[in-house]
Amino acid sequence: MTRFQLKIMGVLALLVLVVVGTTSLLAERGLRARTTENIQTGLEHEARLLALSVDPEAFDRKGDRPGLQRLVEAASKETGARFTLIDAGGRVIADSGVAGDAVATLPNHADRPEVIAAMKEGRGSRIRHSDTVKRSLVYVAIRVPEDPVEPLEGIVRVAVRSDRIDAAIGQLRRVLLTAVIVGFAMALGLSYLLSVFSLRPIIELRDVVRELAEGRLGRRLRWTSKDERGEIAASINRMARQIRDAADEATREKERLEAVLSSMVEGVIAVDEAGRIVLANPRAREMLSIWGRFSGRTLPEVIRFPEIDEAFRSVASEGIVVREIEVSAEKKRILLMHASGFPKHGPRAGTVAVFHDVTELRRVDAIRRDFVANASHELRTPLTAILGFAETLGHAADGEEDLSKHLDIIVRNAQRMSSLIDDLLTLSRIESGLSSLEIRAVDPARLVETIVGDFAPRFEQAGIGLHVHLAKTSPCLADHRAVEQILSNLLSNAARYSNPGSRVDVSLEEIEGFIEVSVEDTGIGIPSQDLERIFERFYRVDAARSRALGSTGLGLSIVKHLVNAMGGSVRVESEVGRGSRFVFRLPVDRSGVDPSGD
Ligand code: ADP
Repeated sequence: MTRFQLKIMGVLALLVLVVVGTTSLLAERGLRARTTENIQTGLEHEARLLALSVDPEAFDRKGDRPGLQRLVEAASKETGARFTLIDAGGRVIADSGVAGDAVATLPNHADRPEVIAAMKEGRGSRIRHSDTVKRSLVYVAIRVPEDPVEPLEGIVRVAVRSDRIDAAIGQLRRVLLTAVIVGFAMALGLSYLLSVFSLRPIIELRDVVRELAEGRLGRRLRWTSKDERGEIAASINRMARQIRDAADEATREKERLEAVLSSMVEGVIAVDEAGRIVLANPRAREMLSIWGRFSGRTLPEVIRFPEIDEAFRSVASEGIVVREIEVSAEKKRILLMHASGFPKHGPRAGTVAVFHDVTELRRVDAIRRDFVANASHELRTPLTAILGFAETLGHAADGEEDLSKHLDIIVRNAQRMSSLIDDLLTLSRIESGLSSLEIRAVDPARLVETIVGDFAPRFEQAGIGLHVHLAKTSPCLADHRAVEQILSNLLSNAARYSNPGSRVDVSLEEIEGFIEVSVEDTGIGIPSQDLERIFERFYRVDAARSRALGSTGLGLSIVKHLVNAMGGSVRVESEVGRGSRFVFRLPVDRSGVDPSGD
């Protein structure tokens, strides 16, 4: 039996108890009133009968008292009631309840309530305790004569034991009790049947919903009726189908994701907010030597490389983290790691990192750098020889016009090649970290002034005005040879791409903890679409023109590398036909060392 069934039965039983209980109470009260009334009416009749047998004057005649006593005793014997005759003064003249000679000793009855009522209204009745017979009695007293207008002669009083009423009520109680027991049993039985019928669908519904909740999504309700039950069944079945479809879709999605992740050449690791691994594809496991169970464990528990854990942690403060990490699991590897939080929007659920194996890429890079350096180095010696001999021959061929023209061409090209090789060597040294910079505190104003001073004759020759504006600044951290090279490249470009009559301004100022040096010309300018690319190697806006001007396309790329290596940056603003402004910045020296000794 279910708890719900028990509840229904309990409620019904309680209802029956209340109804039967109330009914019994009301019935008992009604019955008591009716029984009392019946008894009282009977007693009244008996009193009247007796009053008829008593001569009205007998109440006064003292001599007839024994006769009266016998009369009441005879009446009592016949009816079982107690009869009392009382005179107009309240004195008892006969009483079947006491012996004849004791009547005279009875107290005056004028104060008895039923007697008082009878004297006044012709009739009185009470249920009360009798001091004379010592028990509860029902009294009925009538006046003789009955009409209160006529002079009172006496009172006839009849009494019976009040337990007659109780006996009648007791009988009724037994009947009621039987009714209660039978009703109660029937209520229990009926409520059980009712609950079985009304609960069956609910129990079935509970079982189906429970199975669905436990993941057995194939279970369905088979109610087909057109009423509410049918509607519930249709809704639940539809919901079950939708849950199964969603679960199937989620499984398919998971399988697709797993297929993609396991066929990726990149390693992928995702951790939740608490730092526990939720996903690591086969490639990541192979790259980082993760063996055995990893799901739910933290990174330091399964990965031996603390830099990776550190990078994951940095995502919280840096957002997107890109690191190149050297790991030596089975073999030495260089991994490029991109880590960021997910999802992209909303509260963060965790961090995901993608690992690219860039070992091969870096190796090829190193080979290329070595090759450029070696090739440049090897080319330099024969080229110097060619240049030297061509120049010597040029001097010797003075007068022979054709020959000296040809030799001139050889010399110019050899010079171009030589400067190309110089630039290439410089770049490859910077890239490979071979040319170590000596970064010290330098006085930027003095340095700029010296370099610009060296260039003054060249600008004068080209007819370009050179102006210098030096603000007083703090010392900056730089390698003075690198600054020389940067400024030389920028000044050469300014001279190269300006027309005679234009001007070049070099200025120096301190901004936001950096020393900014700008070289501004009023030359040909650079088209905006090329601005982003001019710092790339060999990139030239107008290759033919640049080449004719003896440029290599490497100058700005050397500038960028050197500035970056010193912890600074470079930018350009330009407009075609109006000129260009190159600005590079270097960090201010905060150690407070006096740079005057430099
Ligand atoms: P190059 O040795 O050819 O000057 P750079 O790397 O120094 O090589 O410059 C790349 C290209 O940028 C140049 O070919 C030129 O087109 C453009 N450029 C550089 N500086 C200026 C400038 N001050 N005015 C106009 N164009 C410039």
